[in-house]
Amino acid sequence: MIYDLHCHSDLSDGELSPAELVQRAHDNGVSFLSITDHDSLAVYRSPALSVPAGLTLVPGIELSTQWRGRGIHIVGLNVDPFNETLVAGALAQQQVRVQRAGKIAQRLERAGHSGALARATELANGNAIGRPHFATFLVEIGAVKTSKAAFRKYLGTGKTGDVRRDWATMDEVVNWIDGAGGVAVIAHPAHYKLTNTRLRELVDDFQAMGGRGIEVVSGSQTLDTTQKLAKIANEKGLFASCGSDFHRPAASWSDLGRFPSLPDTCTPVWHAWY
Ligand code: AMP
Ligand code: MN
Ligand code: MN
Ligand code: MN
Repeated sequence: MIYDLHCHSDLSDGELSPAELVQRAHDNGVSFLSITDHDSLAVYRSPALSVPAGLTLVPGIELSTQWRGRGIHIVGLNVDPFNETLVAGALAQQQVRVQRAGKIAQRLERAGHSGALARATELANGNAIGRPHFATFLVEIGAVKTSKAAFRKYLGTGKTGDVRRDWATMDEVVNWIDGAGGVAVIAHPAHYKLTNTRLRELVDDFQAMGGRGIEVVSGSQTLDTTQKLAKIANEKGLFASCGSDFHRPAASWSDLGRFPSLPDTCTPVWHAWY
């Protein structure tokens, strides 16, 4: 059984529609899929998505927050997508995204690139606007060659377009997820470039707030990283999650369901609900 509990549709910064995403997951042999759009439950709140036989959708969301001034993502799994507090929280985060987009555009303007807000808004198409939409804009106008370069030069950690202090607190987002019957999971822990000590402090704070899980396998990461995260999960008594964090079909990205399985020593996060 393949569980892929982290990926994105075009309702946030992914490229594929929800229908294309579930088909691709099914084609890749995934049995349980969570589409975890950024600060959005839209995919679970419209009745139109039909899922191929043999595939089960696990309602999920990826919420942006911060911890000690760092941008941290928390995935909520098996949530009730109609829970009022969670829905209101996601809506508030969407408003933060819109306000933040204005600030990012101002900063890019100061860096000599005008017209960013109009184009990024157009690219987001009424859905969760984020830095990847600005990255596409910067590529389109020829300011950089690739999205990756856009993050390196303008949008990544510590760069001018890295506006990230307006999100809900980690305590709030963990409570929204908990209140909606879900499991809060620290997303892609290796992305934050924390020392082992800092990562353990993050985990301690997260658990004190009610957080219960951590992504032990995220996309394509080294075996070393997986083993280190499995050790932390077991030591701290956290459920272990796994997901591709798939955004688009591209060679450099882990495809849906295409990642190593969780180490046997871990307690899979789905034991929390199945
Ligand atoms: P935001 O949601 O606006 O904070 O943007 C974060 C998103 O940008 C992540 O979910 C990734 O999809 C993408 N991202 C982050 N870092 C990079 C990077 N270095 N290169 C390309 N995309 C990135
Ligand atoms: Mn993303
Ligand atoms: Mn993320
Ligand atoms: Mn993600």
